[in-house]
Amino acid sequence: MAKNIKNDAITSRDDDFAQWYTDVCRKAELMDYSSVKGFIIYRPYGYAMWEQIQQFMDRRFKETGHENVYMPMLIPESLLQKEKDHVEGFAPECAVVTRGGQNELEDPLIVRPTSETLFSEHYAKIVKSYRDLPKKYNQWCSVVRWEKTTRPFLRGSEFLWQEGHTVHATEEEARAETLQMRDVYVETCKDLLAIPLITGRKTEREKFAGAEETYTIEALMHDGKVLQSGTSHYFGQGFAKAFGIQFLDKDNKQKYIYQTSWGASTRLLGAIIMVHGDDNGLVLPPRVAPTQVVIVPIQQQKPGVLDQANKICESLKAKGIRVKVDDSDKSPGWKFSEAEMRGIPVRIEVGPRDLEKGVCVVAKRNDGVKDTMTIDEALPEKIIALMDQIHNEMYAKAEAHLKAHITESTNFDEFGKILDTVGGYIKTPWCGDDACEVKVKEAYQATSRCYEPNEAKEDDVCPCCGKKAKHIIYYARAY
Ligand SMILES: [Zn+2]
Repeated sequence: MAKNIKNDAITSRDDDFAQWYTDVCRKAELMDYSSVKGFIIYRPYGYAMWEQIQQFMDRRFKETGHENVYMPMLIPESLLQKEKDHVEGFAPECAVVTRGGQNELEDPLIVRPTSETLFSEHYAKIVKSYRDLPKKYNQWCSVVRWEKTTRPFLRGSEFLWQEGHTVHATEEEARAETLQMRDVYVETCKDLLAIPLITGRKTEREKFAGAEETYTIEALMHDGKVLQSGTSHYFGQGFAKAFGIQFLDKDNKQKYIYQTSWGASTRLLGAIIMVHGDDNGLVLPPRVAPTQVVIVPIQQQKPGVLDQANKICESLKAKGIRVKVDDSDKSPGWKFSEAEMRGIPVRIEVGPRDLEKGVCVVAKRNDGVKDTMTIDEALPEKIIALMDQIHNEMYAKAEAHLKAHITESTNFDEFGKILDTVGGYIKTPWCGDDACEVKVKEAYQATSRCYEPNEAKEDDVCPCCGKKAKHIIYYARAY
């Protein structure tokens, strides 16, 4: 009994990782395609995962003093053009509304690709004095960026996200905010999603359009490719000057504000799938799992079995565990493989023989290990402890994978071989020149993910040009 029934329907990860990913997205019922390319339907199970992420982050945003607002989804083209770098970065992928009702619009409207311009216009109106600062707003919404190649959750023409936008009286405060929100993302990945990260600054080439500084969180997927999973930007006074966001300071002088923005999206769902999933489907970290425990009654028509399953369910529910009984008329084997496909962290089995002994069988999705537990008032606490254990095991496994896929190299010629065989990151000294980044990109189709400024050692040399190195940089092939 309870042998894994192979999910024949999904491709194995080693055969074709891209196909495996698509199979899991569809078969675990996370999403479906719509009739417009790049626009997907978030099905209940996928959306429930996003809701868990939203709840976790929203709580942290509020604890760190932010308020939620909602901005319009349309931006006048003239407004988007106010900050030069920003419009250059986003114009190529904008969706534009040119007609309203029967009339051609004089000033076309952009479907928001991001909302810096709207927030800036609003802040210019409502910030007058140092007493109005800081303003720390966040909005949950979707944005549209017209993409040529699209993949569910990873790259879509529309995606769901949060975008935080803050304005401050001093540079110091704005810089601290940028780092604080980067840290909230790190915490979300570690504590909720069991995903270890590399973080650092984006290079000039890779940073956000209009930002002075972009901090990023980068997650390593199972196939050795990397996914940018959230960014936090320090804008200095660029938008403030373009939009005239000024305040009267305590010293009675008019000054420009300092600004930040930060965003994380439904890409995180893609990260969960590709970091933790296996050949039987999704493997969900317990804290983000919409259903944390599934109870499967064995021979449920036998007297007492279903009652026992329901009793266990109620006792777990009372302790806040997200649990359900699968009492459908499918066979237990079918139910097991369905629960596996959906990545439910814990499965509890109860059958007639367990009933006599007052026990149940508890199976962990992450490694298949099974245990027999006594059904008593201590069971819910044991399951809670087990879920913490699963979270830690999943994090440790992902961390070991990450560590094994950071290769330090100072030889430009071996970059390609490292990327082709080991995959993951190449960690190397960098002189700071854009030309060297381009050289890596053109030779090996790997981009800089982030760098640590001034971390190079005294005698470190940039392997791309042979000049003295300043920084340590990470290159990888990325989604
Ligand atoms: Zn160089």
